[in-house]
Amino acid sequence: MNVAQTQLQNSGWQQALVSSIEVGIVVVDKSFVVEEWNQFMQNHTGHDVANVRGYSLFNFFEDLDKDWLINKCQPVFEMNTPVFMIWEQRHYLFKVGTARPVTSPAEYMYQNISIFPIADDSGNVERICFLVYDVTDHAMSKQRIEGLNNRLKEISRVDGLTQLFNRRHWQECFEREYKLAIRHKKPVSVLMLDIDHFKKVNDTYGHQAGDAVIQSISKIIKKATRETDIAGRYGGEEFVILLPDTPAESAFTVGERIRKASEKTVVTHEDSEISVTVSAGIAEFSPVYKQPLVWLEAADQALYEAKNAGRNRVIVTASAAE
Ligand code: GH3
Ligand code: MG
Ligand code: MG
Repeated sequence: MNVAQTQLQNSGWQQALVSSIEVGIVVVDKSFVVEEWNQFMQNHTGHDVANVRGYSLFNFFEDLDKDWLINKCQPVFEMNTPVFMIWEQRHYLFKVGTARPVTSPAEYMYQNISIFPIADDSGNVERICFLVYDVTDHAMSKQRIEGLNNRLKEISRVDGLTQLFNRRHWQECFEREYKLAIRHKKPVSVLMLDIDHFKKVNDTYGHQAGDAVIQSISKIIKKATRETDIAGRYGGEEFVILLPDTPAESAFTVGERIRKASEKTVVTHEDSEISVTVSAGIAEFSPVYKQPLVWLEAADQALYEAKNAGRNRVIVTASAAE
């Protein structure tokens, strides 16, 4: 029996503690041959201490990255200093199932690991000890909270009916883009769009039918725009699209694509078939717009002109003189 085994086994209460503690204890020598393996490790890995002791640790955990672990343990052996690993860095060291496979959503146990040196009387570290802490519950609740926070962030940015950005978030993006536009010389356009005679849709077919029409126009907008475009629902049946790297002529093409697709689309709601048209106004950024809102108002003005000119059309604001 070697020194470490003697130390671990020479006291009844210590042995009982090592057996019953809800922490994995693994002692290995310099070649990573297992010397100790407590009950926790036995329970969770299914490997009996009698079968593990005297064999390399790597025999039992094939996906344990040997070079990585040897490297990690080097300061423990050579400098007599402990090393810690947390689950955020590495999900687990020993790939084992969770303690509660039925109720836990995690497939494998999340582990925090301490590796500390066991020095002999002359200070030589001939063996090291791994302490394996099961932190699955903690990791799962932390991840759940992070997931919920992300979801909340998402909800707070997105309009429930259309899944486009809501007005507040869109405005934040718009203000950011405005600042970028001042610094960069790239063209950027904003498009404002409004459904024509929408009150009539609500009055004739009801509010729910109106909602279905709003959703259908939103889908058309999503389809007609690029990943980098920022589309939002500005109000009831008013939409805004920010088009980075896009001069007014190209924004006009996008507007026309949306207008034509809207005109052709028939929304079926209950037994009614509903068709609508849309009008849009476009303003390309110019440094003449001293505030983001002034730029947006230019697009709104073009939209107003499109309405006045008979609706179902896209109008680009006359280029702002500098
Ligand atoms: P115009 O062609 O001049 O735009 O005429 P319009 O009838 O569309 O006029 P306006 O844009 O002023 O009307 C918007 C209407 O949209 C008023 C409001 O009752 C309705 N509305 C606003 N929000 C919603 C919504 O979320 N759902 C539905 N169904 N209707 C809405
Ligand atoms: Mg309208
Ligand atoms: Mg409107």
